[in-house]
Amino acid sequence: MSYRVTFIPGDGVGPELSEATRRVLEATGVEFDWDVQEAGADVMDKYGTPLPEHVLDSIRRNKVAIKGPITTPVGGGFRSVNVALRRELDLYCCLRPCKSYPGVRSRYQGVDIVICRENMEDLYAGIEFEQGQPETLKLIDFISDLSGKRIREDSGISIKPISVSGTRRIVTFAFDYARRYGRKKVTAVHKANIMKFTDGLFLATAREVAQSYSDIEFEDRIVDNLSMQLVGRPEEYDVLVLPNLYGDIISDLCAGLIGGLGVAPGANIGDEVAVFEATHGSAPKYAGQNKVNPMAMMFSGMLMLRYLEEEEAAGRLERALAAVIAEGRSVTYDMKPTRDDPTAVGTSQVADAVIEKMQRPGA
Ligand code: NAD
Repeated sequence: MSYRVTFIPGDGVGPELSEATRRVLEATGVEFDWDVQEAGADVMDKYGTPLPEHVLDSIRRNKVAIKGPITTPVGGGFRSVNVALRRELDLYCCLRPCKSYPGVRSRYQGVDIVICRENMEDLYAGIEFEQGQPETLKLIDFISDLSGKRIREDSGISIKPISVSGTRRIVTFAFDYARRYGRKKVTAVHKANIMKFTDGLFLATAREVAQSYSDIEFEDRIVDNLSMQLVGRPEEYDVLVLPNLYGDIISDLCAGLIGGLGVAPGANIGDEVAVFEATHGSAPKYAGQNKVNPMAMMFSGMLMLRYLEEEEAAGRLERALAAVIAEGRSVTYDMKPTRDDPTAVGTSQVADAVIEKMQRPGA
């Protein structure tokens, strides 16, 4: 059986990482029928948008996509393709498994945390009012009338919506994930002591969902306390479920625990569709140099194999990646003891090494 998967190479270092990832995915023996689609800055001139409708249609049709990073230029009318993709396809969970492999440069060992970050709501919903604009002043007056509290007139305002239905589906996702992958505990993260009607609602809803999963332990943590605990005892955490903003920050913290952006995979998942991509961006200054680490995207490919229920192939790819990391020989500059280590290899040589490991007998 061959899987039809939308393949978006991306821009910056995206195309070279995507090529390396495509090679290792094909070397697992699983058959893919890639539906290659271009998106990002490079297609702006051709289609007038960085995210043409036919790219979205391809993902909707195939239901699974893997993508390289895409640059979001600062300023201008260019909306982030990454944010737009999540919104258009209702990819409400940003999944970030953070697992440390022996040999990575990290102060920690034995980290194995899965982050389920809500992707659509919270302060990132994009409902913002610019300082000094007439509608902002109107809103300030309105809030003052309603709440009796004064907001300074020279304020900008970002709205933080958190809903029961949005929370229910992300927490349900986290518990279902825990069940499917044999995880023991889900921790809901919040600041409910301060924001009672948003984070408080998130926590209350999470507690309610947890009642349907008596086989999985449930606990909650205030986000500042969690940050301290993650730095001290990350091995105590299993699956974390968080609203958007905390999820964004804690994801990067956890990427730091496991050795950095070069190895941190991810996926954006909805009820129908899933898009797999590394946590990092397009690192434009390294584009075309065969230099950066393809492992984060390869690990994202491993997540995709698991999503497709190709567990055996996923396990083989994971073991091969772990073996290359443990050896420390065929790895890129960011995984060497010093950044200017002359023994660092390039992006495509990492793919060669991973493929070689997978092809060994008993791999
Ligand atoms: P970045 O992740 O692209 O790069 C930051 C630094 O991290 C790089 O300079 C490099 O030193 C290191 N790095 C990143 N990926 C690496 C890898 N695979 N191997 C080794 N080192 C790596 O972050 P940025 O510079 O903030 O963003 C660049 C562009 O990427 C921006 O336009 C941003 O909007 C976009 N971006 C896209 C995505 C996405 O497509 N999902 C995600 C984040 C950022």
